[in-house]
Amino acid sequence: MKWRNHLDIADAVADALALPSHRREILRQASIEPDKHGERVLRFDRKGEPYLRWMPHHRPDDEVIEALAWKARRAFLEGREDDAVWCMGKALHFLQDDCVSTGPLGKGHDSSEDAMAELRLSRETVASGVNNAKVSVNFMRECIQSVRPCRDPLMALNRAGLFSGALAASVLQGKNPERWLKQEWIVAKRRFRLVVLPTAILLASAALVASLMANELLIVLLALPALIAPFACGRYWLLKEEMSWFGL
Ligand SMILES: [Zn+2]
Repeated sequence: MKWRNHLDIADAVADALALPSHRREILRQASIEPDKHGERVLRFDRKGEPYLRWMPHHRPDDEVIEALAWKARRAFLEGREDDAVWCMGKALHFLQDDCVSTGPLGKGHDSSEDAMAELRLSRETVASGVNNAKVSVNFMRECIQSVRPCRDPLMALNRAGLFSGALAASVLQGKNPERWLKQEWIVAKRRFRLVVLPTAILLASAALVASLMANELLIVLLALPALIAPFACGRYWLLKEEMSWFGL
């Protein structure tokens, strides 16, 4: 995607989030930064040795966009809002690049990128991304994973605007969880600590004791379902992850 489109989207996101003018400028600069200086990511080779690899723009890795979103979120929660907007801008750059279809060998963007530079972004689309966003780690992840390259330049541009608005609003808003969510977490946590864990430990211990008393090793296998049960409490783990989005 060309700088003009990145900057247009940054302006529309800044408007929709009512960012003050100096943060708008940070967002604008960050959203073209990866094209100026690149972005390097830590990788491990087959022997487990770390190395730095340049992040590809044409097919950026979802996990790198997510890592930038997490960095932005942590900075936002800690009150380092300029840093948060900077990291968000870089994440948005890669998210937007991912909306543009690649050329024949996946090496560069095809002609739709040039056509896109002539188009104007619909500001309402960006605003609707912001207005429909949820401050949620799962929403953030869904945004990143839902992005697909698109051949039609106008559709690619609007899609980039929509997802950019949604991602930015999911990261740069709401420092505290809503009351109902916090309440649900407290109930789930109490149930997990007072019911699920003790029951699992009790059943596993009973299976172990029975196995020792009967001198029959196979009985100990009955402990397995009890030990697996805490990990199968999907709602608990989902809420726990949602709370981590609020630093709790
Ligand atoms: Zn790029």
